[in-house]
Amino acid sequence: MSNIPPAERPARSRREAPPEGAGFVVDQERIRKAVREILLAVGEEPDRDGLEETPDRVARMYAEIFSGLHADPRVHLKKTFAVRADEMVLQKDIDFASVCEHHLLPFMGKAHIAYLPEARVVGLSKMARIVEVVSHRPQVQERMTEELADLVMNELGARGAAVIIEATHTCMTIRGVRKPGSTCITSAMRGTFQSNPATRAELLSLVFGHR
Ligand SMILES: [Zn+2]
Repeated sequence: MSNIPPAERPARSRREAPPEGAGFVVDQERIRKAVREILLAVGEEPDRDGLEETPDRVARMYAEIFSGLHADPRVHLKKTFAVRADEMVLQKDIDFASVCEHHLLPFMGKAHIAYLPEARVVGLSKMARIVEVVSHRPQVQERMTEELADLVMNELGARGAAVIIEATHTCMTIRGVRKPGSTCITSAMRGTFQSNPATRAELLSLVFGHR
């Protein structure tokens, strides 16, 4: 999926999914230098009042907003509880903010995650946790949607999983075609949500029904 040449890849690929907190530390000095370069390149004076501390602030901010690159969302889905019910579980309106990997500008919105448990469920806060990890990476909304659906489907051994994301992309609203207020909606359906139109219809009415 990545088209970065191997030489430029960080030592640890995200696909190996190291345990949370382990390993890679963001090279903040490198970010500071790069931000200073950008300021110079656009004709600014990086040493003037107001910009002096900007490279450092941006470095710390990037370490935060890309912290999900070095975290494994699966750890949040390990602790499950046995249930007798097998009805749909839907976590609606999970707020998130991510960064579009094409422009490095934020996109933000809401994620809705549903699954049909196979005897086991996770705590309600866990869906927000996995959204947090997956959104704190350079992202595209479509891939983020797929990644979340696969995580829930595979880690919970669910009969079905569905993710719908609604987001506003600042790369659409503050530049380029400038379409303020436009929302991008993506969805990913797995298992029963894919095979059973009635299940999918129930989900869509639960998510979009009362608007
Ligand atoms: Zn973009």
